[in-house]
Amino acid sequence: MPPPLVAIVGRPNVGKSTLFNRIVGRREAIVSDIPGTTRDRVIAVTSWDDFTFTLVDTGGLEPFPQDVMRDQVREQVQMAVDEADCIVFLVDTAEGVTLMDEEIAQWLRRTSKPVVLAANKVDNPRRELLVPDFYQLGMGEPVIMSAYHNLGLEDLMLSIQEMLPDAGFEADEADGPMRLAIIGRTNVGKSALMNAILGQHRAIVSDVPGTTRDALDTHMEYEGEPVTLIDTAGIRRPGSVKQGIERYSVLRSVQAVQRCDIALLVMDANELATSQDAHITGLAWDAYKGIIVVINKSDLLPGDVGAREMAVQRVRRVLHFAPYLPICFTSALEVTGIHDLMRTARATYEERTQRVTPPELVRAMRQALAKNPHPSRKGKSILLEAVRQVDTNPPTFIFAVDNPSLVHFSYQRYLENHLRQWFGFTHTHLRLVFKRRT
Ligand code: GDP
Ligand code: GDP
Repeated sequence: MPPPLVAIVGRPNVGKSTLFNRIVGRREAIVSDIPGTTRDRVIAVTSWDDFTFTLVDTGGLEPFPQDVMRDQVREQVQMAVDEADCIVFLVDTAEGVTLMDEEIAQWLRRTSKPVVLAANKVDNPRRELLVPDFYQLGMGEPVIMSAYHNLGLEDLMLSIQEMLPDAGFEADEADGPMRLAIIGRTNVGKSALMNAILGQHRAIVSDVPGTTRDALDTHMEYEGEPVTLIDTAGIRRPGSVKQGIERYSVLRSVQAVQRCDIALLVMDANELATSQDAHITGLAWDAYKGIIVVINKSDLLPGDVGAREMAVQRVRRVLHFAPYLPICFTSALEVTGIHDLMRTARATYEERTQRVTPPELVRAMRQALAKNPHPSRKGKSILLEAVRQVDTNPPTFIFAVDNPSLVHFSYQRYLENHLRQWFGFTHTHLRLVFKRRT
């Protein structure tokens, strides 16, 4: 099960971003820093004690920055209602109940999703007296808290966990089919691509009963290998879709990415790599997922090689933090490039599930150290004593070191690149963990 999605909603300035940062804090979290978004961090996979979840600050998603404030807030609430497993409705105790709070409450009352009302900015006991005011929102008893002063977070997290009794505790996922998530903005051709993948090779589609979350998954075989397609285009909610505006439900994609092995990030050849694309790619990257950029509608590109070359350059520029993503060109309409895409996916999957032999790993490591030993830092030398591959998908390596905290980031990257070259991990992000030798 992927970590449940917890979304913070509320009007501007109630403290959503402060709360987000407080919860994610300095914990070891998977956070994507997204260029182009108004806030540094809006989505993170994080944990509180044993409880792992994805936290979203909807205030930072800015789906339609050009909209007036009310529409923006409404859109953020709608996204949360559509995609989250639990919604934290944040209000500002110092300000009291505002019209906008009432409106948000009205929107939230229509959902059957669990909502936790949290009264923020209760910085001192005097402010506590103001909290009962919020009962009139009809959202139950508010959790009393102050994000700024780090008060009441424990209570808030408990309330969230009570709402999600079964979720968030990681179960080991058995080896199954390769799971591909098809993500991207509206109208880039996700549905068409899905059909092209399903149609062309007489894919065998099977029905495997699952939870509601994976109700939209399609199970098939491609060249004799099982594949699960996680579709994010399938759900259309006419009521919540404005005509003629590009929509990209980042939240839906977040969930799909958490569940997949490889994310197929579909783009329109005529409108490449937006900040939202960078956003979701960053998240998949930080979660060590496989990622393939699919430039669809390639039939609309001029026929010369230059056009493709330019498209690749543009994608690489926007997604500079993920330098070795494979990029495939497809036309779902003309059913071209599909085979190449599926082969790239398979090759990436094979890399991700590759297990290298211990002696070869030792050899690779020796050579890396001989070529470029870790420079000493703060007067201390750094000894890498052993390395082990402890997991696949993503390939995960543990290095035993005498001083893990002194291993420089650039040296980690050097070791990663060395392993990538040595073992042919061409397209996959490796996870390197440095631990004190025991
Ligand atoms: P957002 O727009 O909802 O994301 O709100 P922010 O997190 O940006 O916070 C808006 C303002 O409220 C900032 O100046 C915060 O420092 C402040 N703030 C956030 N939480 C608290 C709190 O618990 N107490 C007080 N007094 N101020 C807070
Ligand atoms: P989705 O919203 O991402 O699922 O996009 P759709 O699959 O619904 O496609 C959106 C529009 O783009 C439709 O009109 C498709 O016919 C068109 N389209 C999809 N793939 C291609 C393609 O490869 N080439 C061209 N020219 N049009 C395409």
